[in-house]
Formats: sequence, C-alpha cells, structure tokens
Amino acid sequence: MAVPLLDLKRQYGPLREDIRAAMDRVCDAQSFILGAEVERFEREAAEALGVAHAVGVTSGTDALLAALMALGIGPGDEVVLPVFTFFATAGVVARLGARPVFVDIDPTDYCCDVGQVADRLSAATRAVIPVHLFGQAADMASLAEVAGNVPIIEDCAQAWGAAFDGQQVGGMGIMGAFSFFPSKNLGGFGDGGLVTTNDDAVAARLRQLRMHGQSGTYEHATVGGNFRLDALQAAVLRVKLPHVESWIEGRRANAARYARLFAEAGLDQVIGLPEAVSGRGHTFNQYVIRAPRRDALRSFLAERGVIAAVYYPLPLHLQPCFSSVGHTEGDFPVAERASREVLALPVFPELTSAEQEEVVGAIGDFYRHLSASSI
Ligand SMILES: *Cc1c(COP(=O)(O)O)cnc(C)c1O
Repeated sequence: MAVPLLDLKRQYGPLREDIRAAMDRVCDAQSFILGAEVERFEREAAEALGVAHAVGVTSGTDALLAALMALGIGPGDEVVLPVFTFFATAGVVARLGARPVFVDIDPTDYCCDVGQVADRLSAATRAVIPVHLFGQAADMASLAEVAGNVPIIEDCAQAWGAAFDGQQVGGMGIMGAFSFFPSKNLGGFGDGGLVTTNDDAVAARLRQLRMHGQSGTYEHATVGGNFRLDALQAAVLRVKLPHVESWIEGRRANAARYARLFAEAGLDQVIGLPEAVSGRGHTFNQYVIRAPRRDALRSFLAERGVIAAVYYPLPLHLQPCFSSVGHTEGDFPVAERASREVLALPVFPELTSAEQEEVVGAIGDFYRHLSASSI
C-alpha cells in the first residue's frame, strides 16, 4: 500500500462545492486584490487566533519580511534566530541587510535554545525570531524573559492553532508571521501569508508596507513592497478556516495512534518519537521521528511506497549563502545531529489507520532486516 506524505485531494473532496462557490463569488465580483474578501478573512482569522489585527500578505516569507520592515530593521542590525528552520526565517533578515545571529535548538522541542538566545543578544539586536517548529509552540515564557525589551517576532508558519499555556501563537510576540503554503495547517490554493499583532500602530504600518508604503493615492511615506493577499486566496481560506480546528484534532489523533503503534511494535526503543511538551499545544504539522540509519530507512520506505521527508538536511549556518556569517560544522551540534536523524512521517488529518499501520510495519521491517544483516 502506497502512503503519501500529504494528500490534499482528500481535504478538497468534501469542500469542493463550497470552495468553487467562493471562487465563483470572486470571479463574478472581478475584484482580485485585497477588498472585501480579504477584509472578511482578516477579521475571521484575527478572531480565530485571538489577536486584534491580522494583515493578509503574499506568503509566509513576506509576512516575516514585512514584520522586520515594520520594526525598521536594516543594515547594522542583528536578529537572533535558530539554525534549524526553513530558510525563509533567516533569508528575510539577510535581504534587509541585517545580520542573522544564529542559535542552536533544544533537542526536545526543536525550538530555540533559550540560554543561547540570552548569550547572543547584543546592543545591535533588534529582534528575536523564535520558530514554533513542526507545529509545537516554543517556550515563549522563557524567551520573553531573556528577550526583555527586544521585540519578538514569532515564526508561526508551521503552527497555526498551537498555544503556549493556553495562549495561541501569533499573539505573544509583537508580531506573528503565518504561512498559507498548501502543506501548512491552514493551506491556500497557492502562496499566502498573514501577519498578526495586538499593536494598532504596528498594524497600520504593516497595511502601509504591503502597499508599497503608500500613505495616500500615489504618495509613499516609506518604501514598502507588494505584499498583498489575493481575494481568491482569501475566499478559499475563508471556506477552510472553520475546519482547521478539527483538522488539527485529526493530526493529534494520528500522532497518538503512531505512539501506540510504535510502542506495541517495540519500535519506541529503536527510534525517537516526537515529544508533545505539556502546555505547548503541539499541532503536528509534521510528525518527526529520530531514526538511526535515517537515509537508508527513508529509501527503504520509498521502495515500499511510503513517503517520508527530511526537514531539514542542512542547518542554516552550513548553507553556502550564509558562509559569511562565519560558522563551521560543530558550532551548533544539536541542530547538526537533528539534521542527520530527523524524518517526517505522513500525519495529515485524513490519513487512515490502515495507512499508519503500513508505515509502522515498514519501519519495523527495516530495523528487523538491519539487525538480521548485522549479526
Ligand atoms: C513555510 C515556512 C515559511 C515560509 O512560508 P512561505 O509561505 O512558504 O513563504 C517560513 N518559516 C517556516 C518555519 C516555514 O515552515
């Protein structure tokens, strides 16, 4: 039985008529950029996330970029962020001419090593970007304590719906950046993103920045960009929004089933299972195990039709484009080890229990073969 890493067709099926009607609404209105559809989505998203403002933008990357621009970050400024994350978290910092200051991760939650954040703060630090990686909230209380007056921008791209001690992500830092890339907890039909904030002035700046810094008709107070969310994306997202909570529950149920199946097979002694830290509202955007002989396991699974993925094979400090930041192998050992061990298994909400049994069975077969051949 083939098991895909993600099958969006299963999510689309039951929503097909509603989504096509919503897209038809936009087609009939012929109003494509911002407008009523985007405004309604922003209000509904803000309510769902428990924040005062939600500003729709072109992607999660642009959400992060606009957030940094709203703080006026540029050359000479430093931004502290973890080395184990999607490239965009650091890319936006470099694009503004600021310097990414890297920290290692915690081996349990894969989020920032808070002690290192404290160590790397300097007089030039203008922001800290914790990443709620794989769908689990970072330790926001400790981060807020060490950050002090330094603004925190939460990278919430993978963590729509996660919460720290009951407080949803996106509302704890000065801003939160969300992505609607199709594989995220809430995915659009293409690229899209959102910046959240509880600060009225910051929200106003973000709305200006996404329109080329426009302050009046063809009058530009600052230099912004074209970061506008499309009405078509907003219309699709509005149909999906009421379902996100139940999809996240589906992911959590699948994670719990994996834990049971792995334990029954004795595999919890062989591989490392993801830890849902108490009070962190793990949403399992990714279900990430640590696997001995990871690459061989991944190939073995692929031959059986079970698709697994590696997020991320190369930490940011070892990326060619960041060589000038001045790090070498060994500088961030926890992230480097994770990059060799992690493997994301299918966990999407519509995954069946038979498919999960297939995944666990195939992993069991791999390690049985391995121990037989090494005797
Ligand atoms: C997906 C992702 C982004 C970027 O979002 P896009 O919408 O693809 O631009 C940023 N940070 C993290 C951690 C992500 O997973």
